[in-house]
Amino acid sequence: MIWPILAIVALVGAIVIHFVWRGKFQRQHRQLQSDIEDFQRRQQQTSVDAKAQQQVLFNSMLEGLLLLDRNRKIYLVNRAFKNLFDLKIELRGKTVMEVLRLHELQELIERVETEKQVLDYELKLPELNERWLQVNAAAIFNSVGEREGTILVFHDLTRLRQLERTREEFVANVSHELRTPLSLIKGYVETLLDGARHQPEISERFLKIIERNTQRLDLLIQDLLTISALESGQVKLNIQAVELRPLTDKIFSDLKPPADNKNITLLNQLPDLKASGDIHRLEQVFANLVDNAIKYGRVQGHVTVGGRSLDNGKVEIFVQDDGPGIPAEALDRIFERFYRVDKARSRDQGGTGLGLSIVKHIVQSHNGEAWAKSEPGKGATFFFTLPQAK
Ligand code: ADP
Repeated sequence: MIWPILAIVALVGAIVIHFVWRGKFQRQHRQLQSDIEDFQRRQQQTSVDAKAQQQVLFNSMLEGLLLLDRNRKIYLVNRAFKNLFDLKIELRGKTVMEVLRLHELQELIERVETEKQVLDYELKLPELNERWLQVNAAAIFNSVGEREGTILVFHDLTRLRQLERTREEFVANVSHELRTPLSLIKGYVETLLDGARHQPEISERFLKIIERNTQRLDLLIQDLLTISALESGQVKLNIQAVELRPLTDKIFSDLKPPADNKNITLLNQLPDLKASGDIHRLEQVFANLVDNAIKYGRVQGHVTVGGRSLDNGKVEIFVQDDGPGIPAEALDRIFERFYRVDKARSRDQGGTGLGLSIVKHIVQSHNGEAWAKSEPGKGATFFFTLPQAK
């Protein structure tokens, strides 16, 4: 009798133990599963965070970055790359040709796949405003030497190239401007030495030409030195309150002889205005503008200086003439170094082509602006602003 009872107890015990252990196993299993899921979630989060960090890092780069996968499809670009090419669309998965249509770039990508080194290439973009980019390209290989993709880094060289071009143009212009009076001086000196000096009338005329061209060289060198000092920021402004009406009177009295030569009336219509500035530099601004108004104004015309105080703490001055004026297309360019509407006329008048450029530099160094308006046939008006003295 005892054996059946013991067997039943053992069976019940086994069943209980089975369920207890099964429950325990299930709990452990669930725990393990949840731990794994947790780990995967954390892994995913870490990878998302790493990707986000990577994107922030890439977006903070000044250089454009383009990463292609092994099928030459775009895998990643940074913000600078999109800005360089003005791209607003999603680029991932597209090819470079679909996005940029630059055959040169496509050829570079193909070339870099076979050459196991960083390629350096200069790309000139065929746009209205010329742009130059330097591209560094390299293929990316994995540990077993298989190509995983390609990386391209773009540096914008446009500003550098523009500066180089401006410098080259400036050197060419200066050489040309110096050569013209120098060759005239040389030519007349040689003619005098060859015998012309024995004829008093001719020698006097030649010596006057030599004198005029020496003065031109002198003016040119003075203007070049002023420009170079202003551009290099060496000029220290001695800022003080400057009364503009008396300053204009002084300039008028200095320039009375050339004005009288052309029977031009000089009118000072400035109210009592005080600007905050360097008096010697401001004299140069007024003198250059009034001198131009006389040089390019009409015979028996008028040159007027006037101005007003503005609401923004500045004063606005104008210098006006009633000469032939300036064609609309030249208005933006006359402040450039050596730009002249009529080269021969400017040279005849002893111009260096640097006067307005000096005006603009000085005004800008006083935190002001300079511009011109003109209705051809009705004269030109030059404006500039300066800080008002308190
Ligand atoms: P420049 O020494 O030739 O006078 P500027 O820089 O002073 O050089 O002036 C540049 C050009 O702007 C001049 O050559 C001239 O063509 C034009 N210009 C300047 N002022 C006037 C004006 N008041 N009327 C007509 N043209 C002017």
